[in-house]
Amino acid sequence: MTIALTIAGSDPSGGAGLQADLKTFHHFQVYGTSVVSLLTVQNTQSVLDVRIMDVDLVLAQLDAVLSDVPPSAAKTGALGSARLIEAIADRAQRFAFPLVVDPVMVSKHGDRLIDDDTIDSIRRRLLPTATWVTPNRHEAQVITQSKIDDVASMEQAAKQIADMGPDNVWIKGGRLGDESLDVVRIGSETRHLRGPWIDTQDTHGTGCVLSAALTANLALGVDAWQAAETAKAFLTRALRPHPKIGRGIGPVNFFP
Ligand code: PLP
Repeated sequence: MTIALTIAGSDPSGGAGLQADLKTFHHFQVYGTSVVSLLTVQNTQSVLDVRIMDVDLVLAQLDAVLSDVPPSAAKTGALGSARLIEAIADRAQRFAFPLVVDPVMVSKHGDRLIDDDTIDSIRRRLLPTATWVTPNRHEAQVITQSKIDDVASMEQAAKQIADMGPDNVWIKGGRLGDESLDVVRIGSETRHLRGPWIDTQDTHGTGCVLSAALTANLALGVDAWQAAETAKAFLTRALRPHPKIGRGIGPVNFFP
């Protein structure tokens, strides 16, 4: 059985965070394990509270899982505090499997899920341990502290982020005309990944689902470009019209 691990926040409404990751792993027939880094109190309408777990408790979960149910790939989502990121980064240096870092910073409602010190810890400590990092355009701007407003600046940012240590960088560019365009840099090769732009309100969990699909495919041993293409296609399918859940920004569709 192939196993993948997520170290992420809980979204009790089930659309993002570790719940989205586990559902996505399951879709790819990968057995999912989860270490909880923070709890959000939220539904599809708003985030009411965020509580970050104690570092000791997160590391204890991680050790318990790694010693008994070791994964073939792992991902991180919202990690909450600089101390927590540094503790995870220390452990990640010894991971013998690929690590996908999704540098989650804000929720779709605009609520920040991490503080300022945390961004510096992601940059200095976590990125050097990552096989992949998957920022959206906004997160890439925060990481590089430069303006990203076209494809050339996305490519430049991908190079700048790669220089911070991760092997591969995926910048999710968002809408460009009638397409969704991402810049993916694997080693020193850069390509554009395109999909149709899907005009929907129900986008909660898109970042989580994309990075979890990538992680599941890496766990399965799929090569890097193919894993990226498969993850992009999976998210595009998940965004197509589907039954509405909740009254706010609904989740993407986890059903086939
Ligand atoms: N992780 C948690 C726990 C969240 O609550 C959220 C957003 O609310 C995210 C991650 C990021 O979600 P998205 O994939 O929609 O960017």
